Amino acid sequence: MSATAYDAIVIGAGQAGVPLSTALAKSGRRTAIVERAYVGGTCINYGCTPTKTMVASARVAYLARRAADYGVLAGEVRVEMAAVRKRKRDVVDSFRSGRERLVETTAGVDLVHGEAGFLDAHRVAVKAGDGASTELSAPLIFINTGGRGIAPPLRGLESVPTLDNVSVMELDAVPERLLVLGGGYVGLEFGQMFRRFGSEVTVVQRGPQLFGREDADVADEVARILVEDGVEVVLDTDAVGVEPDGAGVCLTVRGPGGERVLSGSHLLVATGRGPDTRALNLPAAGIAADARGYVQVDDRLETNVPGVYALGDVKPGPAFSHISYDDFRVIRTNLIEDGSASIKDRIVPYTVFIDPQLGRVGMTETEARASGRRVRVAKIPMNYVARALEVDESRGFMKAVVDDDTDQILGCAVLGLEGGEVMSMIEIAMMGRLPYTALRDGVFAHPLLAESLNTLFGSL
Ligand SMILES: Cc1cc2nc3c(=O)[nH]c(=O)nc-3n(C[C@H](O)[C@H](O)[C@H](O)COP(=O)(O)OP(=O)(O)OC[C@H]3O[C@@H](n4cnc5c(N)ncnc54)[C@H](O)[C@@H]3O)c2cc1C
Repeated sequence: MSATAYDAIVIGAGQAGVPLSTALAKSGRRTAIVERAYVGGTCINYGCTPTKTMVASARVAYLARRAADYGVLAGEVRVEMAAVRKRKRDVVDSFRSGRERLVETTAGVDLVHGEAGFLDAHRVAVKAGDGASTELSAPLIFINTGGRGIAPPLRGLESVPTLDNVSVMELDAVPERLLVLGGGYVGLEFGQMFRRFGSEVTVVQRGPQLFGREDADVADEVARILVEDGVEVVLDTDAVGVEPDGAGVCLTVRGPGGERVLSGSHLLVATGRGPDTRALNLPAAGIAADARGYVQVDDRLETNVPGVYALGDVKPGPAFSHISYDDFRVIRTNLIEDGSASIKDRIVPYTVFIDPQLGRVGMTETEARASGRRVRVAKIPMNYVARALEVDESRGFMKAVVDDDTDQILGCAVLGLEGGEVMSMIEIAMMGRLPYTALRDGVFAHPLLAESLNTLFGSL
């Protein structure tokens, strides 16, 4: 079979792949983008977009139940999962079709439906859903195949129905009793969301705290908030086996108090994600992956094979949509704009969309202290913040770590109302290398959350 020759091939239409394909085409390179499922990848179809749409529904249910706190009489709150799901599907459809239109209407890009695998370093075979196979070749190939959920080695897991981040958002009824395996951001966003929809929820976390990499005070406050919302949080506990129990499941766990059995109508497995290289046939191209299967890249995202690059979750490092998009920027700068960009030392912000949000950027306190710097920690509870009290949402706290020798801000954690937005203001100060005193003494409009930065840094 003779291969169709392109200037560039992008494998996977994720957060980096879509803008990269159109940028390459606009730079005069004939480009093929291969996608086996939906344009937009995980973020738009099964990740950020649908979850945040459903988090919004859950928050309305939460506030409706609290209506009387604000002097409003709202009556009984009932959640219709089919309507929540329809709203989610509508938003996803509109985002997805926007991306599809972008690809299809950009001259010089061919959208090829199917699953790509390498034949050699510059040739791929694409298998379509109907079994047909085509070959494409190009001197430049970009891997943007993203990540996938990794199921834990758990006795009996194959014998029970389980939910993952895709199927849990397709339920048409509120689960009676949802067991969530994994206390990372995916497990906690779904755990709190379904509690608010009306499920009884238990989150089982293997380690001694939720969010294994965050400071212990942040993780403890998150756990306290979830427990206050009625979520059972089980820490330091391993799942050892699972078996069917009528239409539901029985999950045996082992924790500090010994073994116990949790029964649930549904089991959500959210124990972590890894790279999706299953169909790529990396060895055929001689592309190196690390022990966990991540495609190895240098600071400019090139693999060990010249002309082959990897972007997004398929490479090691932070797995977020905005990081994948920034990977695209790095490639655009280096290959299209003749500039020089690298992924080294970039600032990595993220927000966990539990409610209140956890916004994080830069070093944790633990990391800052371990770095050997002399550090000071600014910390205030959200009930010091006028705006949070006025809207009666004052759970959480904010903290920032400052280098005592330079007054530079090293990082922050904002667990509070619009925590992601407040974190981003601090991130902007970090990008501009402002000393913390600029935020301590800056004039911000009253009564915004922004003015809490005066109070936060005034606490030092
Ligand atoms: C439940 C959930 C919630 C999330 N929430 C957030 C959030 O709030 N904020 C945030 O920043 N991140 C969030 N993420 C993470 C975010 O979705 C990912 O970091 C992001 O989508 C990674 O994008 P990517 O470009 O690496 O690839 P992806 O978006 O994963 O896209 C990869 C694409 O490649 C395709 N593909 C794979 N293999 C092949 C092949 N061999 N041939 C052809 N096509 C192939 C796949 O079908 C997919 O469409 C969330 C993830 C999940 C699961």
